[in-house]
Amino acid sequence: MDFTIKTYKKLLQTFLDNGYALIPYQEYCTNKPQGKFLILRHDVDEFAKNALKMAQTEHSLGVKATYYFRIVKQSNHPDIITKIADMGHEIGYHYEDLAFAKGDMAVARKTFADNLKYFRTYYPIQTVCMHGSSTSTYDNRDFWKTYKLSDFDLIAEPYLSTDFKSVFYFTDTGYAWDGGKYAVRDVVENNFGLSFHSSKEIMVSVNKGTFPQQSFMLAHTLWTDSVWQWLMLHLREFLRNNFKYMAQRNKFLNKLYAKMVKAYWKK
Ligand SMILES: [Zn+2]
Repeated sequence: MDFTIKTYKKLLQTFLDNGYALIPYQEYCTNKPQGKFLILRHDVDEFAKNALKMAQTEHSLGVKATYYFRIVKQSNHPDIITKIADMGHEIGYHYEDLAFAKGDMAVARKTFADNLKYFRTYYPIQTVCMHGSSTSTYDNRDFWKTYKLSDFDLIAEPYLSTDFKSVFYFTDTGYAWDGGKYAVRDVVENNFGLSFHSSKEIMVSVNKGTFPQQSFMLAHTLWTDSVWQWLMLHLREFLRNNFKYMAQRNKFLNKLYAKMVKAYWKK
């Protein structure tokens, strides 16, 4: 079974066995390794408990990753953030202030600063990463057209600060490593002409030595060893992917989808 904690451990072990340094995003920005590396990034959109399991798995292998937390209750679990920070992982803020502020820059600046201050009570945050907010008309990254990272003592934002020409980016959106077509905003240009469907395909490529030497993995927190959750989430992702896909092509469905997402995330 793919996208389980068990498979996640195997995947990381495969990279380690093949000489890759597994690093948090902050390390790529401050002290980029010379040889093979894999940046480990997690967007904790929801299911914070799964994030803790992933963090423990990484910890058992002696590696550190980056966890971006949202301010919404599905993500913002103080006990879990504390535990993950205590293991030495990097904590960052998964911001969506411009979408919440409906494009009002001044309001977004205020909430961004407040939320960052809150997350800094857990960890000295240096990097932040936007949440896609796919149903909002506002792109959270536009915040940086008005403000600078340094205004908030930040050094990097993955979408703005990564050299995607030399670093291969891959993500598990929609429970597949090639599900990028379902992503609306969090898309990165693929300069490598490579595409993998399953974790197994990635492991085969890493073992063969054909996988890019500098890479950046975004794994969400849908990885679980609970068969029930795994089944429910696969069904949900399947329906969501197809619905999202159709909604992008149909105005009525698009409105309906936006309403459903809004209800789902209601604080
Ligand atoms: Zn997100």
